[in-house]
This record gives sequence, structure tokens and C-alpha cells, in this order.
Amino acid sequence: MTRKKRMRLSKKGIGILTFLVVIVVAVGIFVGWNFVETNTYASLGYSKEAIQTIRKEHLGDQIKEIGENATLNTVLKSAAFQKDNFDFYQKIGNYTYTDLADAINRVKDKGYNEEEADAILRSGDDASLTHFLSLDYQQEVMDFLQFDYAKLENMERYYDYQQRELTSDEDTVTYVNIGLDKDFYTDYEVIHDYSVTVLANKYNQLSENYVPDDLVDIPEEYCLNPDQKMTVEARDAFIEMAKKAKEDGLNLQIRSSYRTYEDQEAIYNDYKEMYGERRADSIAARPGFSEHQTGLVIDIATSQTSIFSQTEEYRWMKDHAYLYGFIQRYPEGKSDITGYNNEAWHYRYVGVDIATAMRDTDLTYDEYYVRYLDK
Ligand SMILES: [Zn+2]
Repeated sequence: MTRKKRMRLSKKGIGILTFLVVIVVAVGIFVGWNFVETNTYASLGYSKEAIQTIRKEHLGDQIKEIGENATLNTVLKSAAFQKDNFDFYQKIGNYTYTDLADAINRVKDKGYNEEEADAILRSGDDASLTHFLSLDYQQEVMDFLQFDYAKLENMERYYDYQQRELTSDEDTVTYVNIGLDKDFYTDYEVIHDYSVTVLANKYNQLSENYVPDDLVDIPEEYCLNPDQKMTVEARDAFIEMAKKAKEDGLNLQIRSSYRTYEDQEAIYNDYKEMYGERRADSIAARPGFSEHQTGLVIDIATSQTSIFSQTEEYRWMKDHAYLYGFIQRYPEGKSDITGYNNEAWHYRYVGVDIATAMRDTDLTYDEYYVRYLDK
């Protein structure tokens, strides 16, 4: 009797025990599987919030197939995430919009395909995107946005300029980015930051108190006029170049180098008084707009009298200047772009890498800058 009862109790106990074990194992498998899944997504770079959306929207299989994708990680966190746009999102780069998912949704809604959407989002910011999307759908948008230096904020100016000037797509983007669709001096930025690649032209003014902090004297033996200064890097490059020229039997002399804002003001006003504003503008920069204020520029001569473009030294500079980081800044036939007549004597230091890269192109520094340095 006692034995039988114990047996019965034992059977019941085993039943309960089995049930508990099954529950514990099931929970264990579930937790373990969850853990492995979460780790899989995390190892692909997805954040905790993104993983929550992946689970909620049952996107696990797709995510595992796609793998790491920075855009998906960004948009999956957003309240604007739309499951229907999942395939579209993954083909777009991870750009810095306040809400990337919302930005992509809006571009797609406007009718742009993935390739166009990617170019549009790459080329602008929140404000320029909102303005761009307020315009009609632009069928030929890739004509301009194929260039990675195209700017969404300039799209209307590209269309206008090309219609007016019949320029190629590439030149249109380049010229408008320089500012050439507007007259010289009518719309310009004021530069405050010093850098060896600084672009000073009729659309970019150096502030009145812009003075390079590493100006040094140029030894007198290299100068036709006293008290010449340049930045240390440009000066050293010039001396190295002048020494090499001397070995080749030539004499490079500096007529003019660093000029202050006030120096330029005096020069420009003298020309203006003599010739009037129009002619003065073609031969001298207005104060703040002269490259000479950067300390990276030299006007070269061989003597006080010769015309530099007719000298051996000029021919030598054409072949050798780039090796020392100098470029002829206002070449022949480019005055529509540079705003200056051909100046055979005016050289700008940009460093050896850029001077070398520019040598294989036919670009002015204005064009080179907007295409490769203004990103
Ligand atoms: Zn000059």
C-alpha cells in the first residue's frame, strides 16, 4: 500500500518534472536562438534600435543576405522607416541628413529611381533637398549630378546657364560652381581660414585682416624690389626652384610677392584713377581679391626691363614650375574664367601634388579647385 502510493506520487512527480524540463529547454532554446540572431545582426554592424525593427518587421532573412549596410542601419532606427521602401534604401549611400529615411522616402515619392536618388542625396543637405523637391520632377537630373562635385543647391543655375551658354554638362557644373553665371564681384564669399590650397578670385575675397601667420623674408639676391615676403613653405620651394634655374644658366627674380590688403587697395585705386574701373579690373584685383595677399604668390621677372613671356626663363618655368609646386595662375585664353588677362609672370604655390596633377589637365586653378578640392 505504502509502496504503491509512493509509486503513484513518483509518476505524478515525473510528469511535472518532465513538463518543467520541456518548458526550461524551450525557453532556453528560444533565448539562445534570440541571442545568436541578435549577435548575427550586431556583428553585421546593426545597432540595438535597428535590430528591434529587423525583428518587428521580420526582415532577418533579407538582412542576413544583404549583410552590412550603413544606410539600412540608419533608416531602420527611424520612425519614418517604410518596409515597402526596403529595397530602395539599401541602394542609397549613407548620407548625413537629419532623417535619412524620410529624405529617401521623399525623393522616391517624387519619382526618382535609385541611381538618381543616390546622386541627389549625395549632392545636397536638408535645406537644398527640400528646395529641390519643391521643383517639378527633373528628367535630366543625371546630366549634372553624374559629377560628384555637382551641388543640388545649384541645380536651377545649371539649367539656366546651359540654356544661355550652351556649355557641356561638365563645364556647366564647373563654371556655375565657380560662380561664373554671375558677374565678377557681384556675389562673393569672404574667406577667413588660411590654407595652402585657398582659392582667392573674384568670387572669393580674403578678409581685410587676413594675414598668413608664417610670412618670412625672401633673401635679397632673389628680389628686384626690397622687403619681399612669402609663407615659409612657398619661399623654400621658390628658392629651390631658383637654384635649379641658375644651374641651367637662368635667373629667376621676384618683382612682387606678399601684398597686404592696404597695398592692394593703393595699387587698384591708382589703376582706377589712370584707366577707369573697367580696365583697372582686368589688370589688378580689388582689395581682398588679390592672391598676393595669401603669401603664396610671386610675380617673376629676369630684370626690370624684359617682357617675361619672351624670356628663356618663361619657357623654363612652363616645363619646371610644377616640380616645385608652382602653377601659372592666369594662362592665355582663360580670362573668361580667371577674370584676368594672360599673366606670364604670376605664379601661385599650390604644392607639388596639385601642381603635378594639374599639369595633365588644361584646367585653371579655379576649375581644378571646384572639381577636386571643394568637396
Ligand atoms: Zn601677380
